[in-house]
Amino acid sequence: MRQQIAAANWKMNLTLQQAENLLDEILKAPYHLKTYQKVVLAVPFPYLLLAGQKIAGHNNFHVSAQNCYQKERGAYTGESSAEMLQSLGVEYVILGHSERREYFGETNSMLGEKTKLALSCGLTPIFCCGESLQIREAGTQNDYVETQLKESLFSLPEEQIRKIVIAYEPIWAIGTGKTATSAQAQEMHFHLRRVLAKQYGDAVAEEIPILYGGSVKGSNAKELFSQPDVDGGLVGGASLIAADFSKIIEALK
Ligand code: PEP
Repeated sequence: MRQQIAAANWKMNLTLQQAENLLDEILKAPYHLKTYQKVVLAVPFPYLLLAGQKIAGHNNFHVSAQNCYQKERGAYTGESSAEMLQSLGVEYVILGHSERREYFGETNSMLGEKTKLALSCGLTPIFCCGESLQIREAGTQNDYVETQLKESLFSLPEEQIRKIVIAYEPIWAIGTGKTATSAQAQEMHFHLRRVLAKQYGDAVAEEIPILYGGSVKGSNAKELFSQPDVDGGLVGGASLIAADFSKIIEALK
């Protein structure tokens, strides 16, 4: 059974006290998760240890960072390495979020390096891809997203690509309140799975979870997650509201 994931991306939000309250609120709900269903909390760097302590004993919960640097260690002031994350007990790392690509100039090749390093430290990358509105309007989104995957991931051997989670996040739907329809999400996820299958074969492509991100809310999660190739969501805004995020967790099929 392919894994299903509800992933929260808190971005650069919340004070320590607010973070603690939100974690407590999210964790107090009685979820009935199956073994293949997971909740991943991508909290800001300063709260990684706290999140790790809070989720202890909650089997299906995991902590994620929102980024790591593409070098092992050294004179890179202000950056955090994959090895540091591993040493904190962090299990996942979001890589290539569109905000990182846009505001911090992250390229496909840089993201390829980050992905390799993250994997070498035992982290599971949540690799983000997705097109801008301009590309969607030009109708070239399939090629664009395929190139993002090829240039960052396709030098990985089969045993490593199997460990990756992909998040399709159309930029025009992130933080805009404009969600892709479930049909648009399914169409792109199906395409991504075919692209993976062409490179690595059907069995590998069938194993890789593909999450949808872009204004997922408690009210639309069930419909999105009901699509056969949508294996959960990467959630920004709604993950900061405990009731909304709990509903998203419960929408895993
Ligand atoms: C995101 O940033 O990953 C995201 C999908 O944000 P939002 O849910 O707010 O659109």
